[in-house]
Amino acid sequence: MDAHAPTADATASLSPMAALPTAPTDDRANLVGLDRDELIAAMATIGAPKFRANQLWQWIYNKGAAEFEAMTSLSKSFRAELAERFVVRRPETTRDLASIDGTRKWLLKFPDGQEVETVHIPEEDRGTLCVSSQVGCTLTCKFCHTGTQKLVRNLTVAEIVGQVMHARDRLGEWTAAEGEHKLTNIVMMGMGEPLYNYENVSKALKIVMDNEGISLSKRRITLSTAGVVPMIERCGEELGVNLAISLHAVTDDLRDVIVPINRKYPIAQLLDACRTYPGSSNARRITFEYVMLKDVNDSPAEARELVRLLAGIPAKVNLIPFNAWPGAPFEVSTDAAIKVFADIVNAAGYSSPVRRPRGADILAACGQLKSDSIKLRRSEILRREAEAAAPAAD
Ligand code: SAH
Repeated sequence: MDAHAPTADATASLSPMAALPTAPTDDRANLVGLDRDELIAAMATIGAPKFRANQLWQWIYNKGAAEFEAMTSLSKSFRAELAERFVVRRPETTRDLASIDGTRKWLLKFPDGQEVETVHIPEEDRGTLCVSSQVGCTLTCKFCHTGTQKLVRNLTVAEIVGQVMHARDRLGEWTAAEGEHKLTNIVMMGMGEPLYNYENVSKALKIVMDNEGISLSKRRITLSTAGVVPMIERCGEELGVNLAISLHAVTDDLRDVIVPINRKYPIAQLLDACRTYPGSSNARRITFEYVMLKDVNDSPAEARELVRLLAGIPAKVNLIPFNAWPGAPFEVSTDAAIKVFADIVNAAGYSSPVRRPRGADILAACGQLKSDSIKLRRSEILRREAEAAAPAAD
């Protein structure tokens, strides 16, 4: 497939707004990303009682109101007061791409100019949102496009929750009838390593799971990690979400090279953490992702070794045909090799679906996400931070 094939681009160059100058920087505080206690505290700063914060919570996270004006259960004067001090801000959309298979990819921009990608994958009985946790990624997995992008900063809670709210806006989710929902599942499988930004990811997911808000069940959320072993247990205990492990190799020799975090946390340690992952059971299995790389990790012997390694873990295996990107140093395994591999894993009692690539024509498939954020020297980042923090000179 030609990754550069023309795609249906829903906004780029079409929007009449694109040519307009951007609004002057707004220093009103964003309420998106605040948890309940923080929202109560923010309301206290303007003398509003706790029940007002609860009403706001409903408007922001349950009804999806983006303007205070729309919050009709609040008095006009209170709405005006809120609008002076606060905003309910989503990230700005800089690109909106639609794949021929229905997958959508949004490039979202934050106030400091950094960008990430968020992908929506519609299926017959569900719709999955693939959410990013960092700008870029520090892991440098050899087959992953995001890993070639150097600049990294953690996303804030607002930026993680903002991806979900943005998608709900675009998909008409706030007003969708029961059974008509297009965003039913979330996978933390976008750009970045979620367990390297655990505090913000966990706070964001708690907001998304809150019963009086977006109210997505932990059973419909999957967090994927390349193996930040010390954080895995905490993730299970505090969040109880489904776990996915980007395994991709069955020997440390190979995994050290293609998933370099393995040098820090080798396979045996990673699998031990999986064996004791809180809440996993035969009904809630851990997903092992395995990218199929031709002549690298796809032999029948490796399939048998995978089965041996997984013994004692309630597991399922997701085989992901390698998705190519410009300049990638790998090829995808042949269909025949993938079938032999899948059959061996399946015969051992593990479900082993081959994950059909989605959105490949818009580079939205696994490992193809990459924003144009560029590498800045650490000194430059510090200089800009200092500049932003310093009072303006007169
Ligand atoms: N850092 C986390 C979250 C990213 S998930 C993690 O590694 O789990 C992204 C998934 O896509 C991972 O399983 C990753 O290994 C896989 N992936 C990356 N590049 C890919 C590619 N080119 N083709 C197929 N899958 C890829």
